[in-house]
Amino acid sequence: MYHRYDVLVIGAGGAGLMAAAQLANTASCAVISKLYPPRSHTGAAQGGIGAALANVEEDHWIWHMFDTVKGGDYVVDQDAAEILAREAVDAVLELEHMGLPFNRTPDGKIDQRRFGGHTRNFGEGPVRRACYSADRTGHMILYTLYQQGIKNNVQFFDEFHMLDLIITDDGICNGIVALEVRTGEIHIFHAKAVILATGGFGRVYKITSNAMAATGDGVAIAFRRGLPVEDMEFYQFHPTGIFKLGILLTEGARGEGGILRNASGERFMERYAPTLKDLAPRDMVSRCIWQEIREGRGVDGKDYVHLDLTHLPPGALEEKLPDITDFVRTYMGIDPVTQPIPIQPTAHYAMGGLPTDVDGRVTIDEVNTVMPGLYAAGEVACVSVHGANRLGTNSLVDLVVFGRRAGRHAAEYVKSVDLEPLPPEPDFRARAEVSNLLERSRGENASIIRATLQAEMMDKASVFRTGEGLAQMRTTLSQLRDAYANVSVADKGKIFNTDLLEAIELGYLLDCADAIVEGALARTESRGAHLREDYPDRNDADWLKHTLAYRTSGGIQMRYKPVVITKFEPKERKY
Ligand SMILES: Cc1cc2nc3c(=O)[nH]c(=O)nc-3n(C[C@H](O)[C@H](O)[C@H](O)COP(=O)(O)OP(=O)(O)OC[C@H]3O[C@@H](n4cnc5c(N)ncnc54)[C@H](O)[C@@H]3O)c2cc1C
Repeated sequence: MYHRYDVLVIGAGGAGLMAAAQLANTASCAVISKLYPPRSHTGAAQGGIGAALANVEEDHWIWHMFDTVKGGDYVVDQDAAEILAREAVDAVLELEHMGLPFNRTPDGKIDQRRFGGHTRNFGEGPVRRACYSADRTGHMILYTLYQQGIKNNVQFFDEFHMLDLIITDDGICNGIVALEVRTGEIHIFHAKAVILATGGFGRVYKITSNAMAATGDGVAIAFRRGLPVEDMEFYQFHPTGIFKLGILLTEGARGEGGILRNASGERFMERYAPTLKDLAPRDMVSRCIWQEIREGRGVDGKDYVHLDLTHLPPGALEEKLPDITDFVRTYMGIDPVTQPIPIQPTAHYAMGGLPTDVDGRVTIDEVNTVMPGLYAAGEVACVSVHGANRLGTNSLVDLVVFGRRAGRHAAEYVKSVDLEPLPPEPDFRARAEVSNLLERSRGENASIIRATLQAEMMDKASVFRTGEGLAQMRTTLSQLRDAYANVSVADKGKIFNTDLLEAIELGYLLDCADAIVEGALARTESRGAHLREDYPDRNDADWLKHTLAYRTSGGIQMRYKPVVITKFEPKERKY
């Protein structure tokens, strides 16, 4: 079936819905999402959205910008970080005006709490910058934006799975191909502009906070079509996932006063980060937890330490952290009011993704040449404000600030161009991919390949990395790819064929893993979330640059692009 719009937004999380909100009254716009919109991962975000509102104590956007640049270990584009920090203030107020129910101060302003790496006066001590709605901030953002979409008559195509981008011979993106999950039918969406807002790829790893659907579809589809992916080696592990399950316990728990303790009950973060302690940035805290475990100070000799909330004032858990309190009771059978919680780092956030400029336009080389018609915003994109390590609360800001900018830019762009004709047979790749998977009657089992991928990536490409381990992972990946080429799906039907979709998503995960591993092997230094035990120091002379990885017929090729530095010269990071 054929559809025609001015703009297509792929993904109905915070980034996609914020972009759509800008387009609703100026262009014809469709939001295409493989999930029913309120099921997008943005709805799982817990702790807060950062903005220097200064509602409870002195704060300034430039302090927020500095923290973002330092938190990202200086491989952050500072022009973009400045926009993030400046526009965060207005974006949060826009959400408030849309009706988002934030927690309030006694005098009725949006309340704010502490979060890792956010500081007063360029690093003097923690500042209260995270605006929050209990520990369901993302849920509130998602529902608020979804309501706006419905109010503004945005056309939603729910449970439509994008399979391919349509790109003309002149290199203009003018549509997508999608599979309608309910019927199995292939649809062609023809448009002047496409905004990718398909989220992250935490499912590359075994222990993750990410939803099942976080399989890197947008990243992988663009990568296959020859577009570069940026800084994929920087993947964030959040310090506090529930032991073995990976379910997230927000950093807001430490923002409210929670403390990490090792087997002997010691508050070990005091040793590593004397100023910020438990509120040091995530890359550091995750590393310190593993260091404690490796040196035998894990609780009961196991791979976990404790998050202690037992000393928080009475009522704090119910009022400010109700959902995680529930999770701990339900999944662990323990009561955080009286007992410490077993936690370990969990795969959480992709700093890398599709390179974009500050208006969300996807760029294709080291001099930032734009691909006309293609935009990306949110976790799928790398603008880059998070550099080598994102600060807590900065993803939700990224969604609304850059989702808004992408939407606004696309609204203007589509006024200035004509709709390019479709290339011949725009759906042939997508049809071939689907029929190839359905036709094979016997073959490899996708779930076994996926489990091996996730376990091996956890082992060899997570918090600690070595050249040797990564090289082994490269070999494993090529074996898994061979197996994947022979994968078959059991369900041969058309209607709600989740077997087929999971096999397709496994292909995306393999692509993302390839880019992570190749980027990590090439980057012979340690920076932010990327720690090479064989190259333990940061090396600005050789590596203060962004990775651009390209899939070519001869394998993955690396190119590099300079970091934009405007206000803050790189320094050693101390907290
Ligand atoms: C548990 C958890 C807690 C978090 N807490 C915070 C927090 O407190 N503060 C903060 O700043 N950040 C937080 N984050 C990070 C933040 O929530 C995410 O980075 C962000 O929500 C991603 O939003 P997004 O709009 O880019 O994508 P998502 O919300 O992940 O949405 C992706 C959308 O793309 C669609 N999609 C994907 N693939 C396809 C396809 N092939 N075809 C069609 N549609 C597709 C999906 O249907 C979905 O609608 C948290 C993350 C997690 C996992």
